[in-house]
Amino acid sequence: MDHVDRVVSGDLPLYAVEDELPPEEAADVRRRAVEELADSDLTEVGRLHDAEEARSNVENAVGATRVPLGVAGPLDVDGEHADGEYYLPLATTEGALVASVNRGCRAVADAGGATARVSKDGMTRAPVFRVDDVAEAKNLAIWAEDEGFESLKEAADSTTSHGELLDVEATVSGDSVYLRFRYSTGDAMGMNMATVATRQAAAVVERETDAELVALSGNMCADKKPAAVNVVEGRGKSVAADVTVPHDVVEEVLKSTADEIQEVAHRKTHVGSARAASLGANAHAANVVAALYLATGQDVAQVVEASSAFTSMEAREEGLYASVSLPAVEVGTVGGGTALPTQKEALELMGVAGGGDVVGAHADEFAEVVAAAVLAGELSLHAALASDSLDSAHEDLGR
Ligand code: NAP
Repeated sequence: MDHVDRVVSGDLPLYAVEDELPPEEAADVRRRAVEELADSDLTEVGRLHDAEEARSNVENAVGATRVPLGVAGPLDVDGEHADGEYYLPLATTEGALVASVNRGCRAVADAGGATARVSKDGMTRAPVFRVDDVAEAKNLAIWAEDEGFESLKEAADSTTSHGELLDVEATVSGDSVYLRFRYSTGDAMGMNMATVATRQAAAVVERETDAELVALSGNMCADKKPAAVNVVEGRGKSVAADVTVPHDVVEEVLKSTADEIQEVAHRKTHVGSARAASLGANAHAANVVAALYLATGQDVAQVVEASSAFTSMEAREEGLYASVSLPAVEVGTVGGGTALPTQKEALELMGVAGGGDVVGAHADEFAEVVAAAVLAGELSLHAALASDSLDSAHEDLGR
């Protein structure tokens, strides 16, 4: 029996093909077996893939899903870490998105560039511990934040050479205590790093106190879930970008006026989002973030956090002042999917692949570019709504 027949018969489990074959061949065998088992055709899925390079990124590989990639820009960014013009790799299936961001980039360039800054940085993991009662809960909270902090830090920091425990914040809920550990993680997004480090620190909590660890993630982290804690406290990088677009550029490039765009921002983005009780107030931050994350090997589930962005648009004497603030941009230029071949090229396109000369510099630079790209997208969509051209833009581009 060949390998395909053995998988089909159940003799060789899907996950065990790599035990007998190299990754590329294993993916082909598994795909052919699944085609037979599910009576389906996965020819396109198998046409181009990186099974060898993706070994630590996916299990039971059968191929790859191809997502179209477009480029917008150049985007002119004046950051603390980002400096100059960036071409944005945007992976999307939404027609008109790249064109829209491109228009925003032009408005930003004609305005002299966007300013961007990372104001806070720290990846979090928050295990939940069981204690006897609220009195013990308070004791644990005080111990972890204060007296016990150095021993927690020593344990956590021993697991990584690029990460460092910055602080611990305790939340008590009856006999449950959530310790939110916050780390600097260099150029890595840091979720694995923070989890491994927190495991060590949690062992110290159990050794030094009567608390018992219930779950290494107690959902106050909060990873991949919409949560106010991330909006208020930040998670990953809290980053903002702004620009003042002169009136003539608003009219020529954005085909609108500062007053019209301000009214859209007020009634839609602020009042509308408030009425909807949205976490964040923006037009489509998630669109730009998702396309950049997909293209560059970020963990796309974390679009959830980054989409809680806040946009402002204000008509001023000198032009349209626009800003975006993203409390939780969880990005890395090493680790995760960032070393995969196409994702690495996309990071290289922006000059931020791999570790920076100063640890963390590339991840900070990328986060500033993400914020400036969101700003470009917000400018363009607010303008399209203000000039009532959203439908026609989609229609003109065949969508
Ligand atoms: P990672 O690939 O697990 O860790 C980054 C690694 O890169 C570390 O081992 C670090 O070494 C090393 N490194 C080398 N140069 C570095 C530099 N300049 N800056 C920082 N680190 C450097 O990636 P991660 O960012 O921690 O985690 C991302 C992955 O976690 C993604 O695949 C994501 O999908 C996944 N994830 C995991 C969880 C979880 O609970 N485990 C949850 C959500 C997502 P040292 O540590 O030795 O310094």
